[in-house]
Order: sequence, then C-alpha cells, then structure tokens
Amino acid sequence: MSDLVLATDDLAALLRWYVEQGLDETIGEETVDRFALPPPVSMPASARADTAVAAVPAARAAAPTPLRPPAAPTPSRAPVPLESPQMVEDARALAESCGTLADLEAAVRAFEGCALKRTAKNTVFADGDPAAPVMIVGEAPGADEDRLGKPFVGASGQLMDRMMEAIGLRRDGGFYITNILFWRPPGNRTPTLAEQAMCLAFTRRHIELVRPKLLVLAGGTAVKAVLDTTEGITRLRGKWVNYRLADGTDLPTMPTFHPAYLLRTPASKRQSWQDLLAIDKKLRELNPSS
Ligand code: URA
Repeated sequence: MSDLVLATDDLAALLRWYVEQGLDETIGEETVDRFALPPPVSMPASARADTAVAAVPAARAAAPTPLRPPAAPTPSRAPVPLESPQMVEDARALAESCGTLADLEAAVRAFEGCALKRTAKNTVFADGDPAAPVMIVGEAPGADEDRLGKPFVGASGQLMDRMMEAIGLRRDGGFYITNILFWRPPGNRTPTLAEQAMCLAFTRRHIELVRPKLLVLAGGTAVKAVLDTTEGITRLRGKWVNYRLADGTDLPTMPTFHPAYLLRTPASKRQSWQDLLAIDKKLRELNPSS
C-alpha cells in the first residue's frame, strides 16, 4: 500500500468506517498474519489444533480492514468450528483443578484458549471483596475495563456502584463483581456462544470458590449463560431462581437488567429498583442481625 496516497478527507472517512465496523482500538503498528502464528504453548496437547483454528474469528475482527481483499486461506485449512467442545472440556478440567481463588485467577491469566485474549489489552478478572455477601456476574469488559483491567469501571459500572450503594453495598465488603468473559470482545460485540462456553467453565468455578450468599446476574447474556436458559431477561428479571452448586447447595440468584441497558432505557430503572429492594430483603432474611 506504500504507493497509495489518500487525501485527508478520505483518511478521515476510512477511520470513521473502521469505527462503525467495530475496529475502534489500535493494537499495533503492523498488521499481524495470525494464520501464520504457532499455536499457544500453554494449551494441553489435545487442544492445540483447535486453538489455532479458534483464533481465526477474532483475528479477522481485530485486523485493520485492508483496502484490497486479503489472499484467500489455503484450501487445505480445516474449517473454523463454531464451538470446540474439547477445548471447553479442557478449560473446565483446568478450572476444576483450581483449589483457591488465587489459583483460578492465575489459571485465567495464563489461559490461551480464548481468541478474545489476543485482541484484548488486559485480562479482567474481578473486583470487590470475595468475602462479601453478594457476587455480581455481568457480560464482558468494555473499553474502559479493558484499559484498566477491572470490571465495571466505565459508565455502566458507575451506575452499578450507585445502585448497589443505594442498598448499602459497596465493593469494599458489600459485593464482588466479575463477568462471564474475561476479555473484551472487539468493538463490544456480543460474545459468541463458543467464547461464552469457554469462559463460563472458569466462571462456574469462580462462583463455587467465592460461594456468595446471593448471586446477581446482570443482563440477558449473563442470565442465559449462567442459568443455561433461552428465556429472555425481561421474563426472568426480578424473580429469584436457584443456582445449584456442585455440592447441591442452592444459591439464591436474582436476574436483573444490565446497567448499560438502564443507561439506554432509564424508564426500566423502576423495575431494577424493585430488584434491588428484593436483594436487600433477602440479605436481611439470610442474616437477620445485620
Ligand atoms: N459491562 C459488563 O457487562 N461488564 C463490564 O465489566 C463492563 C460493562
């Protein structure tokens, strides 16, 4: 492209187009041929072939769109699977082997089986107090979370903090917060089912290890993934459901709207306030002395 000279207006239009397509992060000076990268070294041998293939969709989403079409992949390349059950199984086995939260965090940070990690700046594990009574699980880090490496620190996180504070819960002792995804999907797109399944293996272990008194699922993606349901958030929000832990204990769980949705649809805050009151009431029932 060295002989291609674009006028300033054309460059501005090209940049705008990139952003509209979700390419809103510069992740390097040079484009990277991710088809040519070797498989990650820390994956179990059984998963390596799948890893290289699973990395393809994110690489496509992250690489700046060239002005000319890229060369077609060689016909001998295996088709890209939408989901890789073996890799999800490997992630689950790895997560199960983690006996403490610190082990789990280290395993997630070292994990190379999710293609999203390649385009993210940071692994976003959790924030707040793991000994707190409430654990909140959201969807995925956004741009602010990706930059700072902490969940729910952007506009929707600030709304979440204000909502929780309204019932006396703060990150220092009141709640612990994480996402089903540990890496930002490029352009904040909805995570694919394969990406969700991969990270969910760790998130389920995360819930087991934290063992909060109450679980709050923020937004339809987290609700569907954690509760393994196709039911929409509008039908499920505000009603207690049980999330069964491995030892058979039922964890009271409240599906509620995602704060990003509330920022777009302020009229729904009234329903979320009802959900917060229900959480407050349940906490008092579980711990009458508080
Ligand atoms: N939205 C989420 O679901 N999680 C975050 O961490 C930030 C925004």
